[in-house]
Amino acid sequence: MKDNTQLVVAGRHPERFGGLVNTPICRASTILAGSMAEWDEMKRARAAQEPGATTYGRYGTATAHAFEEAMAALEGGHRSLVFPSGLAAIATALAALLRAGDHVLVTYSAYSPTRSFLERVLSRFGVEMQVYDPGCGAAIESLMRPNTRVVYVESPGSETLEIQDIPAIAAIAHAHGAFVVMDNTWATPLFFKPFEHGVDVSIHAATKYIVGHSDAMLGVVTCNEATWNQVRETTQDMGQTAGPDDIYLALRGLRTLGVRLQRHWESGLRVAQWLHQQPEVESVVHPALPSHPGHALWRRDFKGACGLFTVVLHASSEASVAAFIDALSHFGIGVSWGGYESLVIPFTPGRHHGTRWPHKGRAVRMHVGLEDPEDLIADLQHGLTALAACEALSPATPATRAA
Ligand SMILES: *Cc1c(COP(=O)(O)O)cnc(C)c1O
Repeated sequence: MKDNTQLVVAGRHPERFGGLVNTPICRASTILAGSMAEWDEMKRARAAQEPGATTYGRYGTATAHAFEEAMAALEGGHRSLVFPSGLAAIATALAALLRAGDHVLVTYSAYSPTRSFLERVLSRFGVEMQVYDPGCGAAIESLMRPNTRVVYVESPGSETLEIQDIPAIAAIAHAHGAFVVMDNTWATPLFFKPFEHGVDVSIHAATKYIVGHSDAMLGVVTCNEATWNQVRETTQDMGQTAGPDDIYLALRGLRTLGVRLQRHWESGLRVAQWLHQQPEVESVVHPALPSHPGHALWRRDFKGACGLFTVVLHASSEASVAAFIDALSHFGIGVSWGGYESLVIPFTPGRHHGTRWPHKGRAVRMHVGLEDPEDLIADLQHGLTALAACEALSPATPATRAA
């Protein structure tokens, strides 16, 4: 089945819900059995991990199980688990696979709260974290130790958008007995197929494109067979569970992910190409542009690009960047992304210690939403005009903080 068909059918069982097209919002703590025999059967089915089996709301209801089934199908993994946020999904997967005395390699370009979790929490349990250059490819071999249990990848990287050679990294990791855990949020389950490229555990902040409407937080972990039991057990031991109302929004988002993402890709690339030609722009960092250092890898391994990329401005002061952003009317100022609306937020690449960021100018992360790209381009033209006017007036200050 092709992905767009899978998006429509995955996780749906109308026959179980009186013919309803959508799995309803099933709210529950207690789940009653009709007799002791039925209770014993419910417990047996859950212990056997039968799909959809449950004895308590914390272990999920039909709403959660529908979403997990759909995500496992789309990712091409063994089974999935839903979490109350993307970060909860990341933290639980890492806690499940790592134990005292282990070493974990994490790309410099990982979502920074992921690194904070390893630095501040798992370090207290005797796990040693080491960051590595996302561009290393097979050279990651020199960093592998006998106790390296997990190689954590995120491609493209958060904000700086480096593309990693996942198959090369996975081959080395597996040869050394380590698991590959990936944050696959940027590509969504449609544009990167993690299990075809050697990933063992794939994670999504479903908060982004899967929910897709900026109105709920959710995370997903999808495992292969080798990692499933450990991750499932830790998820249960840590009491991780997500609310059915939020999960319903993610299931609803999933049905239109294909058409939304196609538009985010086309509009994002069009806006990126336009920005690339503007004199106020130093560089546009977008994996689908041939100027991106990871473009060849992106073409080899990815099936598309989402609407999230970075623009580097010729701006000598923060005031110029503020003038650019304040002149925009279609781009909201805020974090997160993946909703239907466009967003901008400035950031400082230097804070990712060690990142080989080659650009001098000030960086702004852009999310291109579902508005007409012509309106967005006209808006950005206003912004760049305001930036140029501010540049003509304002005194220069250093562009980047020291790492
Ligand atoms: C937003 C994000 C997360 C965290 O997801 P939340 O739902 O906000 O916890 C993780 N990874 C990436 C790449 C993200 O962009």
